[in-house]
Amino acid sequence: MIYILYSNDYEVFLGGNYLPENDVLISTTENILKSCEEIGVPMTFFCDLTCLWRYRELGYTEFPDAVEQQLVQTIRSGHDVQTHIHPHWLDTEISYGKNGSTSYKVDPSKFLMGNWSPEDGTSLRDFCVGIYTKAKQHLEDLLIPIDSNYECMAYRAGGYGVQPNSGDIYSALQNSGYKIDSSIVPGMTYETEVNRIDFTKVPSLGNYSIDPDKGLTRASDTGVFEIPVLALRKGEARWPLAKAFFRKVIKSFLSREKRKRLGYPIQMSHAPAKDNTLTQQLLAEFKIIRDGWYMLELGEDADLMMDVATRYIDQYKNDNTDLYVSISCHSKSMNPRILKAFKKFHRQLDSLYGSHLKAITFKEAEQFLKQEMKVS
Ligand SMILES: [Zn+2]
Repeated sequence: MIYILYSNDYEVFLGGNYLPENDVLISTTENILKSCEEIGVPMTFFCDLTCLWRYRELGYTEFPDAVEQQLVQTIRSGHDVQTHIHPHWLDTEISYGKNGSTSYKVDPSKFLMGNWSPEDGTSLRDFCVGIYTKAKQHLEDLLIPIDSNYECMAYRAGGYGVQPNSGDIYSALQNSGYKIDSSIVPGMTYETEVNRIDFTKVPSLGNYSIDPDKGLTRASDTGVFEIPVLALRKGEARWPLAKAFFRKVIKSFLSREKRKRLGYPIQMSHAPAKDNTLTQQLLAEFKIIRDGWYMLELGEDADLMMDVATRYIDQYKNDNTDLYVSISCHSKSMNPRILKAFKKFHRQLDSLYGSHLKAITFKEAEQFLKQEMKVS
């Protein structure tokens, strides 16, 4: 069976938001929930809990209250909620501007969990255990009264940041009762002033377990079960990306629609400057095509998503074992065109693979894996 796990990194912009938080996260999520209902699929919301804790600590309770109300609603509607941690929030200053906009003052060295060295002498592993346990407790206290079977046991690292010191991170996850991780994006490399990722040497398998003592490059039978985020490795996505580029060129001749941004990322200390020139944009597009690496984040081009997803599934599916595939999105980046493409994409996947494919939550994945003794 091919299991598709639609997932959502449920968070505001980490640099700042042009609109009130509710417009950036709550309303956009409502629209996604409607789309999920239309196509009959569940979604797992990886909630950025450290953000909620910091808001409350600084006396801003309205936004975390609205988030919790929405999480309760998603569980009532058959979706799932799991843990997403951006640890820099523990130390972030929040300022409100005009019309409910926000900006955040951040220490970039605190972005990656594995870079923390707590001043009180706590080890990195114990620091991680503290946060993962608090997050699990927070979600279970909130959601078990709604669904007595609810369990927090899956994790997605903020910014996919499970490096450096991944041994401490995975050992802490295991120790805090997390059974599934979905932070690995095969083939991804990323280096900014805050984040550093190298997933070029992770196992070329659909799923595997991560043993904290063996690191990220070796598949294991025991440890934390990995459901990677769907991505084609370097070179594999050249043709799908080239086709998508030509579709985009034709489309942009037909429409001159301006994209509206609701916020800006953590890498920018201020709002982004003007768009690049056409030549710069073209060069950037060609570089992306030449690299041929592509991560499937729900986007506006359903044909590209279909092209990439079928290549990935056909590469990793195996008649003897189930394949668990995670596809990611962010509420804050959603717009009506993405929602339309999402529905088209899922309907196409459904008609291509028929009864061999099913959309499930992380909680359901855990139940299936338990039956097969792949998680304890
Ligand atoms: Zn995030």
